[in-house]
Amino acid sequence: MQYSTLCEVYEELEKNPSRLKKTEILSNFLKKLKHEKNKEIIYLLQGKAFPDYSEKEFGISDKLCIKALEKASGISGKEIVNKWRKIGDLGKVSFEIMSKKEQNTLFSHKLTVDKVLDNLKKLPELTGIGTVDRKLGLISELLTSATAIEAKYIIRTLLSDLRIGAASGTIRDAIVSSCFGVLKEDESNKEEIKQAKEAVESSYDKTNDYSMVFEKACLGIKYLHDTKLSPGKPIKVMLALKAESLADGFERAGKTAVFEFKYDGFRMLITKEDSGKTKIFTRRLDEVTRQFPEVVDYVKDNVKAKSFIIDSEAVGYDPKTKKYQPFQAISQRIKRKYDIDRMVKELPVEVIVFDIIYLDGESLINEPFEKRSKILRKIIKEKPFHIKVAEQLITDSVEKAKEFYEKAMKEGEEGLMIKNLNSIYKPGARVGYMLKYKPQINEFDLVITGAEYGTGKRGGILSSYTLSCYDEKKEKFVEVGKASTGLKEKEDEGLSFQEISDRLNPYIIEEKGREVKVKPKIVVTVIYQNIQVSPTYESGFALRFPRIDRLRLDKPLKDIATLDDIKRDYKKFELH
Ligand code: AMP
Repeated sequence: MQYSTLCEVYEELEKNPSRLKKTEILSNFLKKLKHEKNKEIIYLLQGKAFPDYSEKEFGISDKLCIKALEKASGISGKEIVNKWRKIGDLGKVSFEIMSKKEQNTLFSHKLTVDKVLDNLKKLPELTGIGTVDRKLGLISELLTSATAIEAKYIIRTLLSDLRIGAASGTIRDAIVSSCFGVLKEDESNKEEIKQAKEAVESSYDKTNDYSMVFEKACLGIKYLHDTKLSPGKPIKVMLALKAESLADGFERAGKTAVFEFKYDGFRMLITKEDSGKTKIFTRRLDEVTRQFPEVVDYVKDNVKAKSFIIDSEAVGYDPKTKKYQPFQAISQRIKRKYDIDRMVKELPVEVIVFDIIYLDGESLINEPFEKRSKILRKIIKEKPFHIKVAEQLITDSVEKAKEFYEKAMKEGEEGLMIKNLNSIYKPGARVGYMLKYKPQINEFDLVITGAEYGTGKRGGILSSYTLSCYDEKKEKFVEVGKASTGLKEKEDEGLSFQEISDRLNPYIIEEKGREVKVKPKIVVTVIYQNIQVSPTYESGFALRFPRIDRLRLDKPLKDIATLDDIKRDYKKFELH
């Protein structure tokens, strides 16, 4: 296929903002693509050269694109930069300068999609001395044989900024319509479309590769259903819905249900291929194997299977005290590229496995959860602070579930997961098969003891508030944080900055610059995300992300949170 054919599609997509129209344009193009051998062209529609599961990046800067354009057009880099400043989009700049060139030259050879894909695919593989020059060579080679429109899209693709608005959902719909002949939904074909969409979606969730999905869709819906998992490639993990109560959990997951501790770490999908190669992925499909060498060892030593895909939560702990750490503490390990051995020592993780979706060449995705869970327990040799399976209770009694929940909370866990005994594993879906139940949001009733005048539209209004709790030992109010969110700008929209400001005004006891101290009179309910130790405030603690939720005119000062309440909650967070 000529690259120009694809560029025409890009142009049409860019011009048409309507999703339905975009689906139609894409669908017509995919009908042509059906007859092409190379289905990877679909990656180019996504603005890439690799499937979604791949983390490969072109690694091309604006500067390098400008250099390549300079080489291909003969126009100076300075002039290109000037144009870029005016136009803003290097793709459009490429179009302009290559149009000029087009008028002066006769094109001898045409650019094919295969050639573009070929060169793009080589880019991430280049490393070592001379990388930049070799990259420049590959790009210039494309640009010299490109027309103006082609140059526009080559540059945009290289910069991962295609600007054609073809998101994943549109591509899915286009596959459905091109392969199963349906575009517009009406009463007669509703069910058929639903099934085709589900088949495409579920095949994609298992592979994260639209080229592969399209190939299967071309063969028929049966082939989509037959999509195999393959360890070594990440799949989208199954997501949870929220249960309002334990009884609600039973109602939605079924009675008898499986209850498990909800651990507060981060999701880790661990895969092992027949070759023994282990890979670790996050919930966002990023590979983090290098960052967690200890996990590779744990599964090698403690999971008895040749190949597998297991789903787990990794929780960080303090190696000295063995106390579990809050998620924020270990989140830094996910992005870490250097000093990894030190991180393993300072912030090791324990892996808590709760599901298995593939074992020794067989997919377990359609097996009931109860069976998967049993298999898991058979193949994992637990070792504290290395690897274990999620603590579990299978029951039909709300009372027993409640006791289990209390146990989870006492042990500092985040809450419970509630799972359907017979459910399959549905990648990527938020289905009623798996629910989460957490204690209600964290809130304290606190008193405002200080405030600060705002600026701009909040000029003259006290719009940032110092919050205090009561220290029973010192018999005084002590500060625990500052909040300036949760309130409305306009009074008719709800509790506003103006209202709080007006209520505080009579109680101002001291003014210093924009800051004031106020008598402790106004009580508010504050929602917060976490508590930290803090030298800034007299209480010794700081609420993280506090947000004012309600004005508590009903609440007497004696009933506000005490320092002991804050300490107790801090301990709860600390245990996580
Ligand atoms: P949330 O992130 O609040 O939507 O809660 C769901 C998350 O809880 C999952 O994505 C997992 O990362 C985590 N989790 C912790 N323990 C479990 C468990 N036993 N089963 C399933 N997910 C768990």
